[in-house]
Amino acid sequence: MNIEIKKVVIAGGGTAGWMAAAALSQQFRGIVDVTLVESEEIGTVGVGESTIPPIRTFHRLLNIDEQEFMRATAATFKLGISFENWRENGDRYIHSFGSTGKSAWACEFHHFWLDSLRRGMTSSLGDYCVETAASRVDKFALAQQPQVNYAYHIDAGLYARYLRTFAERHGLKRVEGKIREVKQNGESGFIEALVLEDGQVVEGDLFIDCTGFRGLLIEQTLKSCRLKYRKLAREQLLETVADQIATGNVVGWFQGRMEWGPRALGNRSILAHPGLATMKDVLNNRVGDFVSRE
Ligand SMILES: Cc1cc2nc3c(=O)[nH]c(=O)nc-3n(C[C@H](O)[C@H](O)[C@H](O)COP(=O)(O)OP(=O)(O)OC[C@H]3O[C@@H](n4cnc5c(N)ncnc54)[C@H](O)[C@@H]3O)c2cc1C
Repeated sequence: MNIEIKKVVIAGGGTAGWMAAAALSQQFRGIVDVTLVESEEIGTVGVGESTIPPIRTFHRLLNIDEQEFMRATAATFKLGISFENWRENGDRYIHSFGSTGKSAWACEFHHFWLDSLRRGMTSSLGDYCVETAASRVDKFALAQQPQVNYAYHIDAGLYARYLRTFAERHGLKRVEGKIREVKQNGESGFIEALVLEDGQVVEGDLFIDCTGFRGLLIEQTLKSCRLKYRKLAREQLLETVADQIATGNVVGWFQGRMEWGPRALGNRSILAHPGLATMKDVLNNRVGDFVSRE
């Protein structure tokens, strides 16, 4: 089924929603209409957000001015993540965003460092990383040589507000209201519209669920398809999957973005116990329509 995407609807206006809104409204201006639905009454998680360096790639893509962004979001520079009392009380480990030392064709830098310890030198590995050395003494510079790799600490609420202004400047339409119902196509199951508590209907061709932990669109769609599901914390999830595999069940694992359709590749796996003699036949009977396992 081919659908021409002309109207994108983003449900939710937290960090995820406004990042999606900013990117789509700027990158596809004039090609697709972007609408965001959010409820001020429900609000956002909106705590301080600690970021990692790819956020700068995202900002470069959108041509966001760093100084303007930092002023608007009460941001500070961040060179890494500090773990207090790491190996023992009083110990501190800085996971820097930079690279450490210079590797050579023969081997990675840490081998040279380990050898230097054996020869009686007493330096720590972090001494060979500009970002670690600078953060130990609370220093920062936007230097070209050496260039430092960094991210920011921001106020998530201010960031959402900043991106909202940015997205609205690029033509995004914001709709205020609580989503009451998710309307799906009776045949395909695809979402066609969101119905708000005040009766407004927001139609679209593509819907992006940014309603945070509620997962409103995803959950409502699962329910309407009468699919049985359970939400599990990560540890519980891993234990459940390991139990299923150990007892001879076949597990389908989906993670992150993926292509759509029977021949699609990426981010999905079929997991099964390779030690069970019957497993090859079980697999071929269940999923052999697609690929036969030898
Ligand atoms: C204490 C704490 C510290 C954290 N620290 C970090 C950190 O350092 N770094 C980091 O990356 N992450 C951190 N996180 C996680 C991060 O803050 C959240 O994952 C992120 O802010 C969630 O953003 P979101 O846009 O997905 O969801 P939310 O902020 O929850 O936004 C959901 C949106 O959906 C809307 N919505 C929901 N239901 C409806 C409805 N029925 N109708 C209409 N609108 C609806 C809401 O109004 C809201 O706009 C932290 C979280 C907490 C709690």
